[in-house]
Amino acid sequence: MSAPPVRRVVILGGGTAGWMTAAALSKALAGMDVAIDLVESDAIGTIGVGEATIPTIHWFNQLVGIDEAEFMAATRATYKLGIEFQGWQGNGSAYFHPFGTYGGPGDATMFPHRLIRAWKSGLEESPEAYSLTSQLARARRFTRPVGDPRSLLSTLGYAYHFDAGLYAAFLRGQAEARGVRRHEGRVTAIAQDGECGFVRSLTTDKGVTLAGDLFIDCSGLRGLLIAEKMEAEFESWADWLPCDGAWAAPTAAETAPPPFTRAYAQEAGWRWRIPLQHRVGNGYVFSSRFQSPEAARETLLGAIGTPSAEPRLIRFTPGRRRRAWVGNVVAIGLSSGFLEPLESTSIHLIQTGIGKLLSLFPRADCSPQLAEQYDRVFTREMEDVRDFLVLHYHFTHGREEPLWRHCQATPLPDTLAYKVEQFRASGRIMLGPEDLFRDASWFAVMSGQGITADDYNPMLDAMPDAANRQHLEAVRNAIAQSVAQIPKLP
Ligand SMILES: Cc1cc2nc3c(=O)[nH]c(=O)nc-3n(C[C@H](O)[C@H](O)[C@H](O)COP(=O)(O)OP(=O)(O)OC[C@H]3O[C@@H](n4cnc5c(N)ncnc54)[C@H](O)[C@@H]3O)c2cc1C
Repeated sequence: MSAPPVRRVVILGGGTAGWMTAAALSKALAGMDVAIDLVESDAIGTIGVGEATIPTIHWFNQLVGIDEAEFMAATRATYKLGIEFQGWQGNGSAYFHPFGTYGGPGDATMFPHRLIRAWKSGLEESPEAYSLTSQLARARRFTRPVGDPRSLLSTLGYAYHFDAGLYAAFLRGQAEARGVRRHEGRVTAIAQDGECGFVRSLTTDKGVTLAGDLFIDCSGLRGLLIAEKMEAEFESWADWLPCDGAWAAPTAAETAPPPFTRAYAQEAGWRWRIPLQHRVGNGYVFSSRFQSPEAARETLLGAIGTPSAEPRLIRFTPGRRRRAWVGNVVAIGLSSGFLEPLESTSIHLIQTGIGKLLSLFPRADCSPQLAEQYDRVFTREMEDVRDFLVLHYHFTHGREEPLWRHCQATPLPDTLAYKVEQFRASGRIMLGPEDLFRDASWFAVMSGQGITADDYNPMLDAMPDAANRQHLEAVRNAIAQSVAQIPKLP
C-alpha cells in the first residue's frame, strides 16, 4: 500500500532560495491540499548578494507565472547578454562569453568548426564578430530572441542582472498570495523521530512550533538541517577553486550601463561588476591563502573608488554536500553547497533543485530511492558547473601571480581533462544531455582562455577553404547589418 501523501511542507529560510522554493511549490502543488510554511529570522538575515543570472532564469519565471515588465521594475533589473572576462590572459586581454550561439541561423554546433578551420588557415579574428549576442552587447543594443530557426534573431540569448533581495521580496508576495504562511523567528529547537531520524518539527524563539512531513533546508551556508541534524558531509573543492572569501560593495549607478557582467582577473582572484538600474554591484572574490582579507579589501576599493556602502566580507568554502536529500530533508540553495559566482550559477542551481524536487516529489515516507536519484543528478550538476569554473582558473596565460601559478599547476578534474583533450584533438565539445553550459559557452571560454583545437569536423572538407571563408564573411556581414537595425538601450 502507498504511504500517505505529504500534507505539510516546512521551508527553513527566507533568502532567495527559500522564497523561490515557496513560490514554485505553491504554484505547482496548488489543489493538492498541501500546507506550506516558511520560517525566517530577521535577526540572522540573508547573505544579501546575488545579482547576475543565466538564461535558464526564464524557465523559472515562467513556471511561477512572472510578468517580465513587472518583475524587471520590481527588482531594478537590467538585461544581461553575457560576461566579459578581462585580464584572464594577462592585463589588457579580454574575451566575451555570450548567451547566444555563434554563426547564422542553421549553423548550430558546426559553426565553431568553421572558425577553427579558418583559424588554421590564417584567420586572426576572435569569435565575437560571429555572435549576434556579443555584437549587440558591445553596441548596447537589445532585442529578444525569436523562436523561428530561420531568423538570425534565433541565435540570441539573454538573462538579467537584478537585486536578489528584491527578487525574494517579489516572490514572497506571490507565494503569500497563494497561501504560503510566513513565520518570523529564529529556529532554536529541532525535533527528530527517535527511530528513523526524520525531522518532525521546528520551534522558534517566539514559541511557534511548525510540524511537517517534508522539510526544505534553505538556511544558507550553515545548513542547519542538512548538515547539523542530518549530518550530510561536505566535499570541499578548494584544491581546484582556492578562493574562499569575497568583499562586496555597491557604487553609484552607471549612466549608460552595458548589458553584460564584467569579470576582471586580479592579483589573488577576480572582481565582478554588475550594473543594475539603481546601483552597480561590485565584489572581489579572493583566496586568503594568497592575499589577506585586509589587502583584498584595498584591492577592491582601489578598483572601484568610493563605494556607496561599507564593503562586506563573506567567507565560504567551495564544494557540495555529498547528499542534498537525507530522510525528509532536502537542501536547496547555499545549504546544499557553494560555487563562486564567476558564471552566475547559484540561482540556476536553486532552480534545478526545485525542478528535481517537483519531478521526484515524494509521499510522506520520503522514499530513499527518490533521494538517491535526486543526489545523483545533483552531483552531476554541481560537478559540471565546477568543471566550467576550473576551466577559467587553470588556463590562464600571462598571469604570473602566485594564485594563478598555483591554479595553472593544479591537475584538472578527470571530467574536465577529458573535455579539454577532446576539444584539442578534434574541436569537438563532448557534452552530456544534462550539462548546463552548451557548445557555444564551452567554445567561448575554451577559446577565450587560449585553448586551441588541432582539428575540425572533416565533414567541412566537402567545401573548399575559400567557400568556408565566404560563409564566415556572409555571417559577419549579416550580423553587422542586423545590429544596425536593433534599437539602442535607453
Ligand atoms: C559573494 C557572493 C556573490 C554571489 N553572487 C551571485 C550571483 O551573481 N548570482 C547568483 O546566482 N548567485 C550569487 N550568489 C549566491 C546567492 O547569494 C545565493 O545562492 C542566494 O542568495 C541564495 O541564498 P540562500 O537563500 O540559500 O541563503 P541565505 O540568503 O543565506 O538565506 C538563509 C535564510 O535562512 C534563514 N535562517 C538561517 N538560520 C535560521 C534559523 N536558525 N532560524 C530561522 N531562519 C534561519 C535566514 O534568516 C535567511 O532567511 C553569490 C554568493 C556570494 C557569497
